[in-house]
Amino acid sequence: MTGTECVRERTRTLADIRTLLVDMDGVIYFGSEVLSGANEFLRFLRREGIRFAFVTNGANRWPEDHRAALAARGIDIGDAPIITAGVATARYLGEQHPGSRVYVIGGEGLRRQLVQAGGCALDEDHPDYVVVGWTADFDYEKLSLACRAIHRGARLIVADPDVNDPGPEFPSPGSGAFAAAIQAATGAPCVAIGKPNRIMLDAAMRELGADVATTAIVGDRLDSDIKGGKALGIGTILVLTGITTPEMAARAALRPDWIARDLPELHARWRDELRGRTSLRGRTSPRA
Ligand SMILES: [Mg+2]
Repeated sequence: MTGTECVRERTRTLADIRTLLVDMDGVIYFGSEVLSGANEFLRFLRREGIRFAFVTNGANRWPEDHRAALAARGIDIGDAPIITAGVATARYLGEQHPGSRVYVIGGEGLRRQLVQAGGCALDEDHPDYVVVGWTADFDYEKLSLACRAIHRGARLIVADPDVNDPGPEFPSPGSGAFAAAIQAATGAPCVAIGKPNRIMLDAAMRELGADVATTAIVGDRLDSDIKGGKALGIGTILVLTGITTPEMAARAALRPDWIARDLPELHARWRDELRGRTSLRGRTSPRA
């Protein structure tokens, strides 16, 4: 696998892309490391008038917390929208069932987003919804409260459906695994908000006023970013700076439209395609 040129399964080119959904972890940074070329790539997007929004399954942080954390690491995203699974869940509940009572398994940030941005009320005894996000405190008592609520008629929602997250030694259990335990114990269906499901991605598309034909997603996970982008019918760009290795990408049945080793390679390829288009226009412009 040698980079962006190795996969191109659609007629759409990078030069057609006018709006971009950008995953954060594994694209802009990976763990504690800021990835090279991030600021340059974001400046390139702004210079070319390509509008972008960040999409992250992290549900416990407010968008402004993400913005501040990125700024503290020297990454300037300006006023680009950040759609988190927490915000998307709050909006979803605000639209589906204003004033929902919720039992939340997750962090304090998720609870606050649901109350302040979704107009929800916390109620572990008789909730309308059990909402699942990530917490290190998932235990038998929380599982039991969730099962009791569902037995009483509550519906199950998972904000961040990732069943595991990258860890230093092994993939650590994610909130999707908590939701799966509740499903196993109750047989209840589960509405998933974050990638690869479309509820959060649709929210980001609406925020940007994005058109499917001229939008792409860039991310580091095949089972999340690329799968979600394909479900929406937008272009898909895999970068190999996160959890997907070149070997995993080569073996996978899911084929992104473009694969780039890193953001500098994607940046260079995109810039060249735009230049090529400009020079083509110059050559074919009507004669005086
Ligand atoms: Mg990622």
